Formats: sequence, structure tokens, C-alpha cells
Amino acid sequence: MSTLIRGGTVVTGSGAAPLHGGAVVLDGGRIADVLERWDPAASFDGEIIDATGAIVMPGLINCHTHGVTPGPLFPSAAHALDDVQWLNNLDRHLLAGTTTVLNLCGFASMDHVREADRRHAVNVRGATTHLPSALLAARKADGGGLTGREAEVGVEQMLSDGAVAIGELGGGQTLGGGGQDLVYLPAALEKRTGVRISQDQARQLKEAVLGRFLDAATSDTDLLRAASDAAGLGGRLELPDLSRIVADTVMPSVGPAIEGIREGVRAAAQFGVPAIIHSASATARVMRELMEQTRGTDTRIIAAHVNHTSHTPAEALELAALGRDRGWLAEASVFDLLHRRKTVTTRDHWDALFSAPGLVDVLGTDYGHGGDHDELISAVQDLVTREHKTLGEAVAMVTSTVARAIPGIASERGELRKGLIADVVVTRADDFRAVSHVFVDGTAVVRDGQLTAGARR
Ligand SMILES: [Zn+2]
Repeated sequence: MSTLIRGGTVVTGSGAAPLHGGAVVLDGGRIADVLERWDPAASFDGEIIDATGAIVMPGLINCHTHGVTPGPLFPSAAHALDDVQWLNNLDRHLLAGTTTVLNLCGFASMDHVREADRRHAVNVRGATTHLPSALLAARKADGGGLTGREAEVGVEQMLSDGAVAIGELGGGQTLGGGGQDLVYLPAALEKRTGVRISQDQARQLKEAVLGRFLDAATSDTDLLRAASDAAGLGGRLELPDLSRIVADTVMPSVGPAIEGIREGVRAAAQFGVPAIIHSASATARVMRELMEQTRGTDTRIIAAHVNHTSHTPAEALELAALGRDRGWLAEASVFDLLHRRKTVTTRDHWDALFSAPGLVDVLGTDYGHGGDHDELISAVQDLVTREHKTLGEAVAMVTSTVARAIPGIASERGELRKGLIADVVVTRADDFRAVSHVFVDGTAVVRDGQLTAGARR
């Protein structure tokens, strides 16, 4: 089956300037040709897609996703999502033009990853955190999705079984982040008091006891009293009791999670694969330590979501600049900061990081609120609209640059170039979220904005 996509603006993903009025020919699952223009008088034997007013780009590669396999969820190895949910998550990625995802729930087995890859058109790739301390951190924070076999498996076996990276090393649930505020802290306090507090109230209590850097020495009694009253806990718990519950809920996984990051970086150096580290205020110190340790080596480290809002914008900028100077790569996650704004309600970090040159290499989504993140392709458009990047540069950050940064994530993909695998996206130039067509391996899996029968297998 041959397909001609003509009349659109072709962005090849290489970073080069777009071809206006160019054409892409797909044949036998491969890109047969990329042309500067298509002669309207010429005939074509196959399907013709008129991409006038549209942009044609390679299928997007998302190097930071969660919840896209039937395996344990998040770095905390929580209970797996059911099939409906993880398949829906993959649908969401595909409808927005993402054709390859890296699952950063590092305790999923490669069987879980292969099952997801087989059952859905999206190319699902796996990462691993099968490390002793990371496993201990997951057990202490949650671990409800663990099978008990993870300790025997190990990173080396995961890598030889096809995992392409080590990560996500650390994670909010194991490092006193949003997952603690949303799930674990309210549950612990409800168990003790019968009062259900909100995510925001939990965060205020946590920060009163542990500060932003998870240090019990920073405990602030006045802040804690105010947060306790605001959460409706005043009179139900003495402040020392409350303080102890907060610390006992949040802290047990923190030490092992930090040690797990060190173990992961050592494994990355040993096995020559990239390590992907959760960047947040809670990991800033260990990241600085590791930046010095890996300085001048060829160990590849990617700092994940360098725009994490637990940093102040100034801290995020400073840490990203240090990482760049030490040879680390940086990923910025769109979360839901552009449209949905449930988990991240500011774009200050995002804009600050992109206003300085060369601080961010690749883009991801992370998970957002219950998997409802903003679209990766929307992040691309935002960078262009705000004049942070040219169209060619912004597309490269979700295609060829990712493929180069993480070898094995998208072999023979990530560019519109003759001979490569035909993962191709057609979307409206004035609204990138209006994806009309997506091809994977040359087959249409989204047509006129709807999933085709080929999307799920
Ligand atoms: Zn993270």
C-alpha cells in the first residue's frame, strides 16, 4: 500500500527548515521519498492525502510516560492500571501524534512492555529500575504492584531483555512529591483521625514539617499549626503527633530512593545506557553530587522534567545550567501546564528554561492528572508560538534528538528520510492538537482524527 501526502509543510525532524508545499511518499511501511514539491499533474498509484494547511512531521517520540503497560505503575511500583486504562492512555498518545513512548515505570517487566507494544500501534519501549535501593524505596512508599520477582531480575537482565534506559530513578511518590500529597498522606491521616484532607492541605502539612527539601530540621511549628487548622485537624491531633505521622509517612522511602538514584547512575556507567533521573527539589542535592562524579565521563544522564515546580524557577534554571555544563541532557515535561492546569498551574519554569539557550534537549509529558496530561505536540506548538524555538528545532526535540539521546528507543525512526520506517503525523498548522492522520509502519492508525481498526491489535 502506497500513500502520498502532499501540499503540506513538511518538517523532517532533522532540525532543518521546513519544506513548504513538500510531499512524503510511504510505501511498504517505509518512507519511499521526501520531495520539495509534488507536481500536481503527476499521477500516483495509491492513496493521496491532501495536506494543504497542514504540517507533516515524523511520529513523535515521548521519552517520559507512565501508565502505558500492564506492569507496576510509577517508580513506587503501585498496583497496575487495568487494561482499559493503559490502552486508553496509549490511545491518547496516538491521537495526539505520538507513535513511540518510553515507559518510565521502571518495575514493569519486559513481558509487560512487549504486551503493550503488541496490543497497540504505539511503539512501547521499556526502562528499568530493578536496583536494590530503588526496590526498597518502592516497597516503603507503595509496592502494591510488585510480583516478588523484581529482586531476582536486576538491571542487567532487563537490559539484555530489551530495556533501553535506566529510569525513572526517583519519583514523586518515593520522594515526598505530589503522589504523597494526593494519596498516601491523606490516607495515613484519615486512618488516624477520620478526617479526609485535600492534596493541597497535605502538601502544606508536609512542607511545614519537612520543608521543600525533605529535611526534618526545617520543621516550622507556626506553619504546622496553621496548616493543621486549615485542614480541619486542629484539636484532633497534637502537633508533635501530627508531625510524626507526616514524617513517618513521607520519609521511609526517601533515603532508599536517593540511594537508588546513585545505584542507577553506577549501572548506567557500567552498562553504557542512559539513566533518567527525576529532577525535583528533593533530588537537587544528589543530582549536584552526581554531576560532579560523572563529569568528564561518557555516562549519559538525562535529567527528567527539569521544569519541575518543586524547584523555584531560579533553582530550576541554575540546576539545568549546571547539568548542561557537566554534559547532562535535560528533558522538560509539559505536564498539564498549557491547557488543563490541574497539577501544574504555572508556566514560569517552562518559560524561564526556554528563554535561556541550550538548557533543554528533549520534551516529554510525564503523567499529568490521572494520565490527563497536555499533548506533547501541543508543547511543540507552544515553543514555536512563543518563539522559544523554530518549528524545525521544536519538532527535533520530540523526534530525532530523542532517538539519538536514547539509542534503541526508536531505531530507524525519528525523521522523515528515505528508507526509514514510516511513522508519520499530519496535523493542522494553526492547531497542532487537531491531528488528522497518524501512520505507524506505513499503516494509517488515525484517520480524520479518529482511531482506525489498526490502532489496537
Ligand atoms: Zn518524575
